[in-house]
Amino acid sequence: MNYYILTLFPDMVMDGLNTSIIGRAKEKGLLSIEAVNIRDFTENKHNRVDDYPYGGGAGMVMQAQPVYDAYRHVEEKIGKKPRVIYMTPQGKTFNQSMAEEFAKEEELVFLCGHYEGIDERVLEEVVTDYVSIGDYVLTGGELPAMVMIDAISRLLEDVLHNDTSAEFETFHDNLLEYPQYSRPETWNGKKVPEVLLSGHHANIEKWRREQSIMRTVEWRPDLIENAVLSKKEKQFLDKYLEERKKDLH
Ligand code: SAM
Repeated sequence: MNYYILTLFPDMVMDGLNTSIIGRAKEKGLLSIEAVNIRDFTENKHNRVDDYPYGGGAGMVMQAQPVYDAYRHVEEKIGKKPRVIYMTPQGKTFNQSMAEEFAKEEELVFLCGHYEGIDERVLEEVVTDYVSIGDYVLTGGELPAMVMIDAISRLLEDVLHNDTSAEFETFHDNLLEYPQYSRPETWNGKKVPEVLLSGHHANIEKWRREQSIMRTVEWRPDLIENAVLSKKEKQFLDKYLEERKKDLH
């Protein structure tokens, strides 16, 4: 996977992405990240990238020309029209299935806006996907691009040490992950659930799935409708919901 980030703040993204698991994956050559400074493509002597919005209103707008030329620079490097994701609060909200879908690409270009955003005409010209990371407005697209790169990269082969660890976690099967415990067996008077010490894999698996189901009902009821459950798990869910209803009355 080769990531290209079109930004006015290349240090911000590179500093963040050079650390921890993503930084190590980069060092190992499992992925590459290039931040392209849009300011390097200005054609005016003060290197200005923004101007007042037509029609008036607050703030400044990033101009089309430097954004387009920065994009063209990347397109020429890649040798084909890549997928270009514009980070915007107006886009489709990013989620795990989108991360899985983006992880199949070989190149991804992230376009980060700033100020009031980017001239619409260049967006129409280059953007293939409009993506938001949530219903709030940030000062720039850099943090959203970093969030997406982190979520996508951990799905790439060999990026996580244990290649099953991205498989059974939150949002897999539309369920939240079960609670996790590590040593010691007793901490602050609280014991680790007995079943996890039993060594009985089938019972552990069953307990974990049930915990996932209960946790999803309590914390993210919006997900449970589409959870992928076996017949027995469906029965467990129905019983749990029934008992929960009684408790609430
Ligand atoms: N005026 C724009 C609007 O109301 O839609 C908001 C511009 S915002 C202050 C500046 C830039 O931050 C945007 O161009 C976008 O790249 C980025 N941004 C802000 N919030 C975001 C979010 N929730 N998800 C993705 N990108 C976001």
